Amino acid sequence: MRTAIVTGASSGIGAATARALAGDGWRVVLGARRVDRLEELAAEIGGEARHLDVTDPESVVEFCAAVGECNLLVNNAGGAHGVEPVEASVEDKWRLMFESNAMGTMRMTKELLPKLRSSGDGHVITTTSIAGFETYRGGAGYTAAKHAQRAIVQTLRLELLGEPIRITEIAPGLVETEFSVVRLGGDEAAADAVYRGMTPLRAPEVAECIRWAASQPSHVNIDEIVIRPRDQARATEVARREGRQS
Ligand code: NAP
Repeated sequence: MRTAIVTGASSGIGAATARALAGDGWRVVLGARRVDRLEELAAEIGGEARHLDVTDPESVVEFCAAVGECNLLVNNAGGAHGVEPVEASVEDKWRLMFESNAMGTMRMTKELLPKLRSSGDGHVITTTSIAGFETYRGGAGYTAAKHAQRAIVQTLRLELLGEPIRITEIAPGLVETEFSVVRLGGDEAAADAVYRGMTPLRAPEVAECIRWAASQPSHVNIDEIVIRPRDQARATEVARREGRQS
């Protein structure tokens, strides 16, 4: 049975991806900091739950040593913290965004590349974002981290050319998960307002892109998929209809 490792599997896109991959017959190893949630999901889908903090190099090394083989790595852990303009940047929030999105992707990929290579048919799928190629007011810390993450993915595709390892980027627009609650420091009302009057994507819709990319024949590399809600044309161009429940 082929093994998929999904980071950030305790919530949102990562949890939906673990479900989708398990449904496709993958052995799935779930990583995140909230192990109680991972264990619940692992019991439901027949996967394996393991503590992982991608901002901590030791945690990454320990996790990767314990997972056994690896055919597919889904670099999904990450997120945003804050909406301050550059002038009011909060260094700790920026550090966390770079550490989880960009450095985390580097650490996990670096550590698992030997296993992906020796599998003979490896695949790295990374959840970036439209923030990887767009910018918006108040978003510099997140967009800078996602631009960096996208650059890592694109560089990997060059560096691994000729090896049996595929490199895929999934870049979603607005998806209703815990993303905005985390970004806005737990303010649920402010997080709800992000999706007010429009219909955002749901996590399973992004997970389906990941599942599909992973299900292609070995010689087919899906470079990138950009997926947005119909109600979104750019990061800040969103069609909102008052009174509409999404
Ligand atoms: P979410 O519901 O908040 O899930 C984020 C996941 O990342 C959680 O499982 C969280 O687990 C994990 N995580 C965060 N920091 C971590 C760390 N240091 N170590 C290990 N795991 C960590 O948000 P989501 O929308 O599913 O986000 C998943 C990915 O999609 C992120 O990379 C995000 O940037 C990207 N994305 C989201 C959207 C959107 O609109 N929602 C759009 C584009 C891209 P623990 O807290 O349990 O560790």
